[in-house]
Amino acid sequence: MYSDDDLLAISGLQHMAFCERQWALIHIEREWDDNVLTIEGRHLHEFVHEQGSGSRSGALMIRGLRLRSLEIGLYGVADLVEFHPSDDGAEVEGHPGRWRPYPVEYKRGVKRYDRADEIQVCAQALCLEEMFGATVRFGAVYHGQPRRRTETEISDSLRNEMKSLCARARELLDVGGRARPNVGRHCKNCSLVVQCMPGVISRDGSAEYMSRIIADISASPECERPG
Ligand code: SF4
Repeated sequence: MYSDDDLLAISGLQHMAFCERQWALIHIEREWDDNVLTIEGRHLHEFVHEQGSGSRSGALMIRGLRLRSLEIGLYGVADLVEFHPSDDGAEVEGHPGRWRPYPVEYKRGVKRYDRADEIQVCAQALCLEEMFGATVRFGAVYHGQPRRRTETEISDSLRNEMKSLCARARELLDVGGRARPNVGRHCKNCSLVVQCMPGVISRDGSAEYMSRIIADISASPECERPG
């Protein structure tokens, strides 16, 4: 079990799935730069959370629900959690009956080529399982282009993939962020392209060189400063 001080941000898992160097720059080195994609994404999340909670077609709709799993070590805020009537669901305070949670994550753009969005929904699902004591079998990602929901099965393989990313993030925290860059065409959409300098990394392997230097410095006893 993890403590509250030890939790990873669910939102960071999309960075880990995209490029672990991006995750390390944001979550360890605290570098962050907005670009048009991140600003539009933030505005969409704010808009969704402002819609408030209610019910539709027999389902409860709760927006901006705070999530936490001490077992996996995650925290975050869900854009939307629907609670559907289900005999083997969970109790929800103030609402008689039993309800099965169904997380929905909102994304401004098109469906990604990787599984980052699904991994984020999976992390939310596992938090909901721990918080409500009910199995979450499905969730969904809503993409702004086109305006469409895609359902995601919270399968064993997705759960394992998500847990592997968490384990790798914790490894990076232990070694001070010596992350492998994932250099490619996607770098042009990365908000940290200036700090990362992927062109330099891919040309001369300086990231590995810098990693070795950092490792040597970390391992060596403190040196006396010249007078
Ligand atoms: S610019 Fe590319 S390699 Fe660098 S952090 Fe971003 S995605 Fe990763």
